Amino acid sequence: MPELPEVETIRCGIEPFIKGRQVSRVVVRTPRLRWPIPVDLASQMCGRTVQDVERRAKYLLLRTEAGTLLIHLGMSGYLRVLEQPQAPGKHDHADIEFSGGICLRLNDVRRFGALLWLDGDPAQHPLLAGLGPEPLSEELTGDYLYQRSRGRRLAVKPFIMDSKVVVGVGNIYASEALFRAGIDPARAAGRISLVRYRRLAEAIRQVLREAITAGGTTLRDFSDQDGRPGYFAQQLQVYGRGGEPCSVCGQAIVKIQLGQRSTYFCRQCQR
Ligand SMILES: [Zn+2]
Repeated sequence: MPELPEVETIRCGIEPFIKGRQVSRVVVRTPRLRWPIPVDLASQMCGRTVQDVERRAKYLLLRTEAGTLLIHLGMSGYLRVLEQPQAPGKHDHADIEFSGGICLRLNDVRRFGALLWLDGDPAQHPLLAGLGPEPLSEELTGDYLYQRSRGRRLAVKPFIMDSKVVVGVGNIYASEALFRAGIDPARAAGRISLVRYRRLAEAIRQVLREAITAGGTTLRDFSDQDGRPGYFAQQLQVYGRGGEPCSVCGQAIVKIQLGQRSTYFCRQCQR
């Protein structure tokens, strides 16, 4: 599933190709994604110019003077930029074509993705309105996490994975950030001190920034025919390493289920 770093990498990858360009044609081959692609998408978008390519949580927002195209990649979606015409493949569900012969093509095998047209302020749309702060913004601080967690008995790992608390902290990144911050993932969110939440906020930021940096190396090939942005070859210290020695203390990393998600941590280093 594309996580926040992958979506941010895709945003950076497509922006130089489409920002400032006018939409010339919209081709929808499969309208049935997670929600139906609006039947009037072509008439809404054609002739509009992409003014900005933004990201909010895992949503991409192509802002035009008339409205915003919201793109979500679901479980398996990816976007490619084509600079030359190319016959669509089996799961190439939609194309947004731009002036200059540029084509943005959505491929999604499992069709959990979405293409929606938003008329008003995207921040007010029901999909976006209730979201917590961006993890890489200044809004995510230890003080904020501390305040939000008071009185919560929920374990800290599902707490930081809740998009109403903070967006974009997926299972892998939550495990890695809690390891760096030295916090037991099963500890009640309301029982963690401010000092430790400050460490955790910084760890979340670091883990995500490193993933984005690692993903940047795939950008060169973004408009390649097989330009599927890969999952990032980031160095993971605990995730997927059950039974292996901890890189800090040497004790075996343990794997538990927490909120129905696989969770990896070191009993010695994380308290
Ligand atoms: Zn350890």
